[in-house]
This record gives sequence, C-alpha cells and structure tokens, in this order.
Amino acid sequence: MAEPGHECVFTGLSAADGLAIGRIVIERTARHGPRRAGSPADEKEALNAAVARAAREIEALAAQADELGAGILEFQGALLEDEDLMAEVLGRVAEGAAAHVAWASVIDGEVAEYRAGDDEYFRARAEDLLDLKARVLRHLHGAAADAPEKEAKDGILLADDLTPSRFLELDWSTWGGAAIRGGSPTSHVAILARARGIPLVVGLHGQLDDRLGGKRAVLDARAGRLVIAPSPVTMAAASDRLESLAADRRAWQDLIGRPAITADGEPVQVLINVDDPSLLDGVSPAHCDGIGLTRTEFLFRDGRLPDEESQFAVYRRVVAWAAGRPVTIRTLDAGGDKPIPGITPHGESNPFLGERGVRLSLRRPDILTVQLRALARAAALGPLKVMVPMVTVPEEMIRVRDLLNDAVGALATAGVAHARPALGMMVEVPAAALAAEGFDVDFFSIGSNDLIQYLTASARDNPAVAPLADPRNPAVSEMICRVVGAARAKGIHVSLCGDMASNPALVPLLLDCGLRAMSVAPAQVGGVKLAIHRYRGSEEGAAGRDG
Ligand code: PEP
Ligand code: MG
Repeated sequence: MAEPGHECVFTGLSAADGLAIGRIVIERTARHGPRRAGSPADEKEALNAAVARAAREIEALAAQADELGAGILEFQGALLEDEDLMAEVLGRVAEGAAAHVAWASVIDGEVAEYRAGDDEYFRARAEDLLDLKARVLRHLHGAAADAPEKEAKDGILLADDLTPSRFLELDWSTWGGAAIRGGSPTSHVAILARARGIPLVVGLHGQLDDRLGGKRAVLDARAGRLVIAPSPVTMAAASDRLESLAADRRAWQDLIGRPAITADGEPVQVLINVDDPSLLDGVSPAHCDGIGLTRTEFLFRDGRLPDEESQFAVYRRVVAWAAGRPVTIRTLDAGGDKPIPGITPHGESNPFLGERGVRLSLRRPDILTVQLRALARAAALGPLKVMVPMVTVPEEMIRVRDLLNDAVGALATAGVAHARPALGMMVEVPAAALAAEGFDVDFFSIGSNDLIQYLTASARDNPAVAPLADPRNPAVSEMICRVVGAARAKGIHVSLCGDMASNPALVPLLLDCGLRAMSVAPAQVGGVKLAIHRYRGSEEGAAGRDG
C-alpha cells in the first residue's frame, strides 16, 4: 500500500467524521492455513463447538448493541438456530466431509441462492451470511486464540474490510478510528460508525502492506485521508486541530442545550438529519429544533417494500421523539449513491443522472402513494412535513401534490385519522436552484451534497475528484444565496440539510448567504451551535442577505 519510511497519504471517502492520531493496526481478512480433519464424530463435535461459540458471541454482542446493530446480529443468530441448515452441514460431516469444508460449502450454497433468488430481501442478506461464515470458520480453525485485538490504545484500524459484527465487537473507546479499502458511506458499518462518532474512511485506495503495522498515522476522516508516517508539520497541524476540537467540545457542551443565537443576537434553527430512526434513542430532542431531514431509504434497504402500517409505525415514532418540534421526512431517494435492489433500474450508464429520487417515485406511483398515505397519517400526530428529493422542474411537484391530494382524499373517505402535511422540495439540482421561484412548494431544503456534485461535475463517490467538489467554490455560495433569496421572495422556509451544514468551519459561509436554518448530523449539533454563537455578520454577508 505504501513505501514506508516517509509521509504517505492515502485517500478514500469520508464515511464518519472525525480526526485521530495513533498507530496503525493492520487487520487482515482471515486466511486460514490447512486444518487437519478428524473422524466424523470429531468433526461433528468441532462444528457444534464452533457454532455454539459463535452463537454465544453473537448473543453477547447483540445484547450490547443498539437497535440497528442488534437487528443485524439477530439475523445471524437465527441462522445458527436454523435446524434445516445445520442438518445439511452435519449430514455432510457424517458422510466424511471435514467440518470447515461442510460449513463453508453449505453457506456458500446458501449465499448463491440468496443472491440468485427473486427476493431482494434475501439477496441483501447474503453479506450477513458471509459475515457469519467467517466467524464460525475462525473458531473451527482455532484462530480465536490469535484473533485480532479488540482493544488498541489509540489504534487506527487498517483493513480490507470491516463487517458489521466485527465493528460491534471492537471496543471503540480505545481505538482512534478506522480506514478500510472496501465499504461505502452508506453501508451498515458507516451508519454504525457515524452513530458512535468513530472516524471512518472507506474505499481507501491501495493495497495493505504489513510494513505499515505499528506506524504512526493521522486519520482525517472528514477529508477522507490517512497519512502514514506523518511529517512533523502534518503531526503538529493534526495535534493543533485535535486540541482545538477538544477545546471547542468543552465550549459547546455549555451551548448544546440552548437555542442557537449568533453573536449579533440572531436566532438560527439547528435541526438534525436522521439516517436511521433507531439511532434517535441516543440523541436528546432538547438539543435541537427538530428534524430537518429524515432519509427513508433505510426502510427499503433490504429490498422489501414496507407496507403502509410498518411505515406509519416508524414515522409515528419519529414524530413522538420530536415531541412537538417540526419533523421533515423525505420521500424515497433511491438511485445514484443509494441504489435499492429491485427498485432502482439496472444498467444505467450514469445512475447519478438517471432515474433517481422523485423521477423514480413518479415512475412507481404505487410505492410513492403508500409512503404518502403513511406520512399523512403520521402528520395527524405532530408537525410533520414531506420533502421530495431530486426535483428538477415544477411539473414534478405538481404531480407529487396531486398524488398527495389523492392520498389525503382517500384517507378522508375511509375515515382514517390524518392531516395534510406541508409539501416541500430538496433544492439539489442546479436547474431547480436557478429557477427556484417557479416551484409551487411550501418550503425548500438545499441538498448541498448533490448540488455540489452537479454544479462541479464531480461525482460525490469518487475520491479522485473530491478536491473539485469544493463547498467553498464561489459558484456554490452563489447558488445557495440565490435559493435563500428565492425563498425570501416567496415567503417560504428554507434550510440546508447537506453535509456542508455539519461542518462548523463552513457555517459562517452559510450564515453569510442568509441561511437561518440548517439541518446537521446529530454528532455535529454542538460544534455547529458553537460556530453560530461565534458568528458576527460580515458586511459582505449582510449585503448579500439584504440584496
Ligand atoms: C444532499 O444531497 O445534500 C442531501 C442532503 O441528500 P442526500 O445526501 O441524501 O443525497
Ligand atoms: Mg441529495
């Protein structure tokens, strides 16, 4: 992966923000040496012992995990209790196969079936099966004795991949963070890392080189960079940043429970982004002004189309969590960097420019209508707003509003409790941003992640062009200022829910554009409130706001 000895920088994608200084701990995907098989009776005993041990580990991990982690682990635990599956493995052992061969071949067969079948839910679960396969094989090969460490003082984990169960196994209070070659910012592991504030870089370029083990490193997860053998200058800069982050953390702890107000006394709404409602348990609603973006892709993640009741149950829970604060829930944004098997089209030459977001929803009004009905029902329980992603032209919002009207009308006719939610749009396509005045909507929320990628023609999932996708590009501010101006002219609410708002260093720029509402990652609320607290309107910014 590197020529050790002097500073070496590797780039990947930011999956969970944070900065760490530590020593590299390399974790190799287990490659087992030969295993000597015994008699069928010995092999049966070895298999049962390995499975029992894996089951105990999974149960213990699930007991400590949050809802998301527990869900992943419980699926694996249930597989170990699947009598048919185990009977097949034991049958092969009885016929003379070695335990590890029988186990691996049966699981591989299952994985192939899961992947080949029509049921997208099972196809998506194939990864969990492979995770489980590896755990049992580890025990069969007796690798547990020299299993990679669970704890490492300030260690930075460097690995080909990190499975969700391995992530949940590590004691992150002793690790600085992780950088992996595989993964994506939308994977289960990325969601788990974000929820815990563990710096994580995924999609790291290069090969693992054992000589890197034990080397000092700086993991700048915000920038998606891992610097190995950092120069004194890099180290000093990272130490300074860590110190100032620690000082900021102390400062914002006093502010986090209070409304955000600039140094000039202007109030600013700080809302949160919710990727997975199961993670809300760890967030205090008193620290924010509500939810500015709830991504609903998680509901469709395993390829199952959730029915109205199960969607309603989730939306109701989010509204209850917010306890009267506004909650914005976005309709399905499948496609682009968020493909959903069975829903997004296959074989598009460029999915970011294809049928994603509202384009897909309008092609599948059956899916959208179920979602709108569930949302309208939840709107009866609190101030819920519906937001539509990837809108390009006003006609799309007219069609969505028609479908919402139909859904509300049908609920009324059937006597089902509901309310008409406010209907707004993400402004994340430059054509919509430039012509924002022409949309008949109740609110705007600026999606800076997509707006920047489309404006700079730099794919958000390609580290090679990441420097071009620069939120400080003046064209980005220009566009944001325009949208804020259009919202003002129309008299509607505008916020920004892209990652820009979660970066305290960029908050002054957004405030200069006149934004007075931003929706941020829950872990960044304190830092963003501190940046707002320190902000004093610049004359230039004030001119922009007034102009
Ligand atoms: C955005 O594009 O800025 C946004 C918030 O939406 P997503 O990241 O889910 O595409
Ligand atoms: Mg977007």
